[in-house]
Amino acid sequence: MRVLAVSSRLIIGAAAAIMLTAADAPDSVESEVANARRLAGTDFAGSLFICDPGSTRIADMLANGPAWLPPTQAFDNLWYVGNAFVGVWVLRTSDGLILFDAGQSESEVRDYLEPGLRSVGLDPRDIRYAIITHGHWDHYGGAKYLQERYGTRIGLSAEDWDMLARQPPGSLARAPYFGEDQADRPPPKRDLVVADGQKLALGDTEVTLFVTPGHSPGTVSALIPVREGDDTHVLSLLGGTAFPRTLQSDGMMGGLLEFEKSVERLRELSKQAGAAGLLNTHIFVDGSDVRLSKARQRKPGEPNPFVLGVDKVERYYGMFLSCLRAAKLRPPAEDAGPPMPSASADGDS
Ligand SMILES: [Zn+2]
Repeated sequence: MRVLAVSSRLIIGAAAAIMLTAADAPDSVESEVANARRLAGTDFAGSLFICDPGSTRIADMLANGPAWLPPTQAFDNLWYVGNAFVGVWVLRTSDGLILFDAGQSESEVRDYLEPGLRSVGLDPRDIRYAIITHGHWDHYGGAKYLQERYGTRIGLSAEDWDMLARQPPGSLARAPYFGEDQADRPPPKRDLVVADGQKLALGDTEVTLFVTPGHSPGTVSALIPVREGDDTHVLSLLGGTAFPRTLQSDGMMGGLLEFEKSVERLRELSKQAGAAGLLNTHIFVDGSDVRLSKARQRKPGEPNPFVLGVDKVERYYGMFLSCLRAAKLRPPAEDAGPPMPSASADGDS
């Protein structure tokens, strides 16, 4: 009997080991979230809310209106002008400025972007290009104004130009459904169509643009060269963040399946390019908010907080992918009502 008991225990032990292996396999929400936590470590702990569909982080931020930040220089040729929720990355070249995104509205450009640029010694009249990561109002809202006032060339992917053209005035893609200002944001006139892998050269600087569908039907991401003193680095900008609620495109978001493929691809492209830092125009997603605040307090000789290294960039995208896979595995939300401004359901971020 004793021998039998021991062997049953062994058998039970073996069965438990098999079950444990199954639970650890990357095919359950729990295992994906655990993997994301492991990859995040302490470096990206602040990004793990994207793994939590119940997170109130964005709703809390928007509840009182996101705080405006002082315009902040991240590199010799790169600044952030925006608020805690969303903003514009400004790349200076020898022949003018390239913006990534264009503010949420014309009034935001007038009240914050133009004065913000002037406060750091840049001239809004030098804005040559605004590359719009995707056609949701919080990214393109100020583009029409820039186009008309400064002749700024506005770039979106063909898919997102088409999406904008389809949206009726006041629709979710064109007007915020929270906050006081729910005015329609008329889109800019169709201009540059960003192609996948396209190089955009201006003066001494060349950025590479990729069409990475998922958050929107044709989200644009970028590899951006930056300088500090004699050092040069490449930054990887992911153009969309909030997860779609559906696997396939619903016309306004690109769907979780495409999003996963795009982030896998951007992770690889970033690695090949030796990208050592991350950008997102929603600065709270990838920890740029913390890095900006470090940049503001940085003393001479201290390392640049935006230089993370190739391995950390890869780890961040690994974390992002695990959260995306967890979202894919979750049953679809039963409530098909208007999406709330949360990480999992925000159609506009
Ligand atoms: Zn969006």
